[in-house]
Amino acid sequence: MKTIVIIGGGWSGILTAIQLLEKNKNISIKIIHSGTPIGLGVAYSTTDTSHLLNVPAEKMSAFPNNPKHFTDWLIANGNSAEQLEKQFFPRLLYGKYILELFSTLKLQEQLEIINTKAVDIQKKENLYSIQLDNNKSVDANKIVLALGNFLPANPKSASESFFESSNYFKNPWNTDFLKGLQTNQNILLIGTGLTMVDCVLSLKNAGLTGKIYAVSPRGYTPAPHSKTETYPDFYSELKGKTLLEIVQIVRKHIKIAEQKNSCWIGVIDSLRQHFQELWIILSIKEKQQFISHIRHIWGVARHRLPKNTYEELIDLKVKGQLEIIGGRINEIIEKNGDITATIQLRGISEKRTLNISRVINCTGPQSNYKELKDELIRNLLAKKIILAHELKMGIQTNLNGQIIQEQGKMSDDIYAIGSLLRGVLWETTAVPEISKQAEQIAKQIIDSIK
Ligand SMILES: Cc1cc2nc3c(=O)[nH]c(=O)nc-3n(C[C@H](O)[C@H](O)[C@H](O)COP(=O)(O)OP(=O)(O)OC[C@H]3O[C@@H](n4cnc5c(N)ncnc54)[C@H](O)[C@@H]3O)c2cc1C
Repeated sequence: MKTIVIIGGGWSGILTAIQLLEKNKNISIKIIHSGTPIGLGVAYSTTDTSHLLNVPAEKMSAFPNNPKHFTDWLIANGNSAEQLEKQFFPRLLYGKYILELFSTLKLQEQLEIINTKAVDIQKKENLYSIQLDNNKSVDANKIVLALGNFLPANPKSASESFFESSNYFKNPWNTDFLKGLQTNQNILLIGTGLTMVDCVLSLKNAGLTGKIYAVSPRGYTPAPHSKTETYPDFYSELKGKTLLEIVQIVRKHIKIAEQKNSCWIGVIDSLRQHFQELWIILSIKEKQQFISHIRHIWGVARHRLPKNTYEELIDLKVKGQLEIIGGRINEIIEKNGDITATIQLRGISEKRTLNISRVINCTGPQSNYKELKDELIRNLLAKKIILAHELKMGIQTNLNGQIIQEQGKMSDDIYAIGSLLRGVLWETTAVPEISKQAEQIAKQIIDSIK
């Protein structure tokens, strides 16, 4: 019997195991997992009910061939069709959906969960030996790397010593930053995307009355979702076009939408479903141009907020409790418990100094694998079992997640899913993408061991 080892038991790893066992029961699956609660990962282990899904429920099914699986589950669990239409559900609730699927999965005798960290992989003839941090090892015929979201990188700062402080929170996804919080303290959030929004909501719900500053190079914040703004599919106009031409065509459609008293939201949603296909055919130079010049504005348009959350954010801004600043951190210094952050403001020569008590890093998961301190990643890069992607995002794979090794050689045995494919696919971390990838990888593995 062949053994498939999945390293990482977040939602990507669990989905892959479910798909593998749906396709073939005559296999052994081992999931090596450590870190956040199994299945839930950083996204769905939140206990804060104000942290909502940022993807509509109808797109969150675990199964690409059963798109209503999650919405049917919501209805079966007491939610009305009207709620489904209007509401973005808490990620905590989605976590319950995951755990229900996981509870069925773990009953299957072919599955073993190994609760420890994988730290290395060695090839031995036709097998792989995966080293664990308890000095044991596990043999595998096939391996799926489902390593998920790594902690954010520290921001650049003239002095690095602050990053050792107990008032610096590198992990924005647990609630450690609320421990011992005094409600009148001022807080600095680095980053102004969806994680910043989660942190603002948690701080507000904890009763914070102090000021919240949020800083990012451009100071853009996420736009709201709208289920009413729809726009026809114009993908056929974009096929085979350069990045510049694509930008021009998208602008043209935004103007058309505006002339029809609609707005850009429908145009972006129409584009979003094809973004992966567009990304794949852009040249490396165009991808780099996108990352330098368009990524921030795309992020605002693409990673959107439920309307209520958006309105809550606006309210906090109007009341003056939340201030969004466009600029870059120059330096953060802590002296006798007082923290001062100096920010080089965007577009002008002035600097601004903020007096704060805590700093939370909301810059998003570190995706430059060469910079990661993770033992497994370091070992795999050193042995060239994986190669870092040239866009400094994840690793090199083909479009189906098969990893690419030295001299462009494709591994027949090692696959990657989710955030590891960021450079290859760009859109690769949300459930609509990882559920499809899990199905595809499982099919390839099962076909290859027949
Ligand atoms: C805050 C946040 C909110 C999000 N909200 C949404 C949303 O609303 N909708 C949506 O579609 N997507 C959302 N996402 C995207 C989200 O990343 C995916 O939906 C999904 O959770 C990714 O799962 P994963 O398994 O790839 O990664 P993770 O959840 O990060 O899980 C990977 C797991 O692998 C473990 N691991 C890593 N290395 C090893 C090792 N060497 N040995 C053992 N274990 C290891 C990690 O500790 C971790 O527990 C969100 C992401 C974040 C960060």
